[in-house]
Amino acid sequence: MMNNYLWYDSYSGEIDLVELKDFLLKIYNLLYDEYGSQGWWPAEDWFEVIVGAILTQNTSWKNVERAISNLRNNRVLKPEKLYALPLEQLAALIKPAGFYNLKAQRLKNMLKFLKQYDFDFMKLSSNITREVLLEVKGVGKETADSILLYAFDVPVFVVDNYTKRIFQRLGVLSDNNDYDSIQKLFHIIPPDLQIYKEYHALIVKHAKNMCTKHKPSCNQCPLENFCKYLSRF
Ligand code: SF4
Repeated sequence: MMNNYLWYDSYSGEIDLVELKDFLLKIYNLLYDEYGSQGWWPAEDWFEVIVGAILTQNTSWKNVERAISNLRNNRVLKPEKLYALPLEQLAALIKPAGFYNLKAQRLKNMLKFLKQYDFDFMKLSSNITREVLLEVKGVGKETADSILLYAFDVPVFVVDNYTKRIFQRLGVLSDNNDYDSIQKLFHIIPPDLQIYKEYHALIVKHAKNMCTKHKPSCNQCPLENFCKYLSRF
């Protein structure tokens, strides 16, 4: 299927990585021109990024904001304070984020991990890896990568369902691509914190604004000329 695309070398049958990189950057630039800088992650510090990354699992950001406001208004949005807070009280405060008992436990698991480094950003920065984050119960790949990128400035590309939807429609991904293979593909873009942060945010913006699950607004879309989705109709 992919051999009709410009990044496929018809002689060797291999993906032309330079062409693919250029294509991905072209899409990035078009999205950036459309929406501008998104300034992600919406948080006041590294710890708030971590809390948000766990709370946002399976819920909208609006609900996360309400839960985070509860934590802030109760003056517990600090690692030491949240660590000391009883599980039931934490669950009650994050109720707006949904799955609150599960998420409270996941936050506690994360806090236990952070405590090993005295909640110290510098100590964490020099020790944190994807592998150790994935060992924290309740932290999956998307959450781990969000924390690495937005809390600790590690240049890893965050993949989510929006990424899959848009880049399947653009013809870059197939149904079979898993998280790691998609991330590997985006890592063709040289590691650049600014681009990695903005690109993920722009994908989310575009998926919510135009490339919606049902009835995408293709006639207004800046990616229309590059999209394979339209040709299916
Ligand atoms: S043209 Fe339509 S399907 Fe393609 S990226 Fe744009 S909104 Fe999505």
